[in-house]
Amino acid sequence: MDILQYPDPRLRAPNAPIVEFTPELAKISAAMFEAMYRTDGVGLAGPQVGINLKLLVFNPGGDSASSETEVVLCNPKIVSRSRETESGEEGCLSFPEINAQVVRPITSIVEAQDIEGNGITLELEGWASRIFQHEYDHLDGILFIDRMSSPDKTRIRPILNELIAEFRVDLAGTSRN
Ligand SMILES: [Zn+2]
Repeated sequence: MDILQYPDPRLRAPNAPIVEFTPELAKISAAMFEAMYRTDGVGLAGPQVGINLKLLVFNPGGDSASSETEVVLCNPKIVSRSRETESGEEGCLSFPEINAQVVRPITSIVEAQDIEGNGITLELEGWASRIFQHEYDHLDGILFIDRMSSPDKTRIRPILNELIAEFRVDLAGTSRN
């Protein structure tokens, strides 16, 4: 399973609700964890692997040794968020070599379904809440570059331009095959 990089249009495409909780869906989420650990990530959303469904996985522990903190969420909805916010550094597997501060609410309460379709409610705070909100944004087609400060956007512009150029080259290569 490959992780798509910006500006792949699937990162901005709409993501459909999950209606069937099949064994295939469980396989997809397992493969997403594998791809995430392989690339030293802590979270991954369906659209980042070309699966435009409301599916995300994360693990604040960040490695397969801490599998007890793995979370898979289907059709997540944010019920409430704290008014209090904080700034924290984020990266994104779809934007290699970019890190920047993003301001987000500190806590979030989430309703979702697990991989079998059972309803679950999570109260998240701090690092886990930040990771969740980053991945949740992906399900709305929102990327962390959309939430950066203007100085950071200016700073990373050359890297974005490089990613855009590489994507065009890859596309040209694909169309020749
Ligand atoms: Zn991301």
